[in-house]
Amino acid sequence: MSKPLNAVVTGSTSGIGLGIATAFAAEGWNVMLNGFGDENEIESERSRLAEKYDVNVKYNNADMTKPDEIQTLINDAQEAFGQVDVLVNNAGIQHVSPIEDFPAGKWDAIIAINLSSAFHTTKAVFAQMKERGFGRIINVASAHGLVASPFKSAYVAAKHGIVGFTKTIALEGAEFGVTCNAICPGYVKTPLVEAQIPDTANARGMSEEEVVQKVILEAQPTKQFVTVEQVGALAVFLCSSSASQITGAAHQIDGGWVAK
Ligand code: NAD
Repeated sequence: MSKPLNAVVTGSTSGIGLGIATAFAAEGWNVMLNGFGDENEIESERSRLAEKYDVNVKYNNADMTKPDEIQTLINDAQEAFGQVDVLVNNAGIQHVSPIEDFPAGKWDAIIAINLSSAFHTTKAVFAQMKERGFGRIINVASAHGLVASPFKSAYVAAKHGIVGFTKTIALEGAEFGVTCNAICPGYVKTPLVEAQIPDTANARGMSEEEVVQKVILEAQPTKQFVTVEQVGALAVFLCSSSASQITGAAHQIDGGWVAK
């Protein structure tokens, strides 16, 4: 890519989002970080990325359940960088429970963070991307955007929803140089996955070790976790000019999970 891009990555204080933000900074792109966490840790990560890669890295703590805060996140990025060329909708949470016990509040939060936030961010950047004739929107969906597992009703619904949203935005951007793709990772060892091990153990009546071996790695024929670096590299490729004809697609990076 000849000129540096300006990216917003939601939920980038941890895990996959931080992996994607790091890959972007390593390309020399400016990045707006977002997400929750310890203020000092976030600031030290922000300044580390900015110094190591000599790029502009900002942070905004918008809560992805709040449309007005989402608009402020996009406004801040536009003000800091002049424009937003790349939007990665990555923020997400999980809750594992049989449907009969699934808390309604968890359903609402998962739909808001994992699905509706992408509507609000995309709406806020889309007109300007179209006007400039270039834009890259990447939605971090999941293998669960393509297939289901029990006890993850809200997550699977939100992830299937975002794959559909991806296709619609791809069609709306197709003649304007704006692509929209979904990345569908299998299991990546991040805090989100580590946190669901005990809940899955309870829901399935297994030990935590059994969950890792028989549920998590069992799902992936390679028997290995996907890494955040691998997801970051795919995101960089989808932003490149070589990927200009790749749009509306759901890209599996799942060790063969969905092939089964
Ligand atoms: P993570 O818990 O490490 O990171 C989640 C990020 O989202 C954090 O930065 C967190 O602060 C942020 N976040 C959570 N709620 C937020 C809110 N209300 N507003 C703003 N930010 C918020 O999780 P991860 O595993 O890196 O997951 C990132 C994305 O990847 C999610 O959409 C997840 O569904 C998806 N994914 C993860 C895996 C996996 O195996 N880890 C697999 C497939 C898809």
